[in-house]
Amino acid sequence: MRRHVVRGLCGLALLAGLGFVALRARPPALPTRSVRTIHLEPRTGRAELLGDGASTKLRAAVVDVPSVLSWPVDVPRGAKLETYFSFARGGPEDLQSLSCRARVEAGEGDGGTVLLEREVRPGPGWEAFEVDLSQQAGRSVVLRLDLACPGAPRVFPNAARWSVPLLSTPRTEGERNVLLVSIDTLRADHLSAYGYPRATSPQVDALSRRGLLFDRAETVQSATWPALTSLHTSLYPSAHGVVENGQPMPEGLPTLAELLRSQGFSTSAFITNMTRGRHPGFSRLFLSREGGQAAADRAAVEQAVAQLERERERRFFMWVHLLSPHADYAPPAPYDAAFTQPGASSLHGGLEELAALRRRGAAISESDLAHVIGLYDGEVAFADELVGLLLSALVRNGLEKSTIVVLTADHGEDLHEHNRYFFHSPSVYRSSMSIPLILAVPGVLPEGGRTSHPASLVDVAPTILGVLGLPVPSSLQGHNLLPGGSLPPRPVRQMAFGETNGRIFTVRSPEWRFVYNPERVQPAAPGGVYPIAEAELYDEERDPREALNLASSRPGLVRAFTAEAVAFRSRIRRKGGLVPGPDAEAVEELRALGYLQH
Ligand SMILES: [Zn+2]
Repeated sequence: MRRHVVRGLCGLALLAGLGFVALRARPPALPTRSVRTIHLEPRTGRAELLGDGASTKLRAAVVDVPSVLSWPVDVPRGAKLETYFSFARGGPEDLQSLSCRARVEAGEGDGGTVLLEREVRPGPGWEAFEVDLSQQAGRSVVLRLDLACPGAPRVFPNAARWSVPLLSTPRTEGERNVLLVSIDTLRADHLSAYGYPRATSPQVDALSRRGLLFDRAETVQSATWPALTSLHTSLYPSAHGVVENGQPMPEGLPTLAELLRSQGFSTSAFITNMTRGRHPGFSRLFLSREGGQAAADRAAVEQAVAQLERERERRFFMWVHLLSPHADYAPPAPYDAAFTQPGASSLHGGLEELAALRRRGAAISESDLAHVIGLYDGEVAFADELVGLLLSALVRNGLEKSTIVVLTADHGEDLHEHNRYFFHSPSVYRSSMSIPLILAVPGVLPEGGRTSHPASLVDVAPTILGVLGLPVPSSLQGHNLLPGGSLPPRPVRQMAFGETNGRIFTVRSPEWRFVYNPERVQPAAPGGVYPIAEAELYDEERDPREALNLASSRPGLVRAFTAEAVAFRSRIRRKGGLVPGPDAEAVEELRALGYLQH
């Protein structure tokens, strides 16, 4: 009976993972032993990510005042309950003056025990309710969240929210957590771990010394929303449909967070770009752009560090996405002066300033270029410091040995190698397509490993699932880079593929980069059009800056890579047509980042 109830609750959690509903006739039965966090989904209606007036959204159910939510639960040993309460913002005035109380109760039959009671008042912020259920361990109870305002003249519909309660038992030996860190606009070759001569990344270097570094990893598109959607869905942009920034992720696609939540992980995300996107699967979402890029990134990391303390005993999946080193290149002190000379240039590293230079056709001097690159490197070093805060929080909370850490980027950055360009989208070149990928699996992967096998951003999710010993859905388009836990890693792909808006394609083999632009699209970009030839071919060994297009002198290779690109295009076309464009708030965010021209 007890097992049956636990499975039933898992089924509810799975049903909330929309991808499973759409893609599987029946969710797979989960082994009870792997269920470490049970998500008590609302029994009527659907939980959704709701904000608190500040920067944190929680998966929550909207309730009336007064109201009672309840779940029958067989309480596992060591279980703790965590939920959060808030009144809806801008609620009715006659609610403001009332005295209300919120309770967590455990009942058997008609009787009940109040486990925690608090007075609650309208106002911003989520109020935490954390309850130790050791007294109820091994018993079948009905857990109730009871909200009442004695003397209230009426019912206030939809006036409050409870976050989906997490019923967690301690992680056991051998069960691993996942910390996924993605850094916006981070070029692999500007990390010292990837051979950059400047010491931009002592923290990432330290991570690479205890992990496996993929030195030929590629993104799928040099644009944030398409790339991050691919990171989480393991689908190429033309398959998931988000081919431009601002397009919302379609419903019904399974995401890494949903897959892990259904397996009993607590899921949280702390992000400072793509904050207007849909992020299914996460129970807690901190999103901020307040105070500028550096301040928002620091705030996100502080929140993530605080969350790691809450996750000390639970099994968790945490995603942190930092906006630095995205333009403007304006790192905070001391990084603003770490790689620049005072007075060496009048440029400030602003996107508008650099785009204006390009628009005017103005050449940039060697010293100005070195200065701008120095500012970009300062941003990298700042992001690296923040990565260090996350890694040391793992150590401080005793999570270092039980947590898989994956570090990657959504795309790189052109730093004037092509078309006098400082930015990423719509670049198809190594500067913007090559990304770092480091995977640390304590006790499993050898420390300090390095592989040159091609890897793609779409491979991250299946590799995480594979390392955790979880099934990889066949609908995913990426590969597990360590199939069967194979070490040293075998090459699982010969090439990495990319695309731009489903119209321009890249193929990266160990030796070559091929760009295929059959429609001769000339994309718009900050500072003017970004020219891309119909076919471009670069020798990656001899010409890493991709300065010499060999397409006309190697027709055989061009034919072979064209066939690969065409086959790739036909594999990934989205069934079901285009997804909608950005909403008004997303447009505002994109404009602030320079993605849209004024
Ligand atoms: Zn980005």
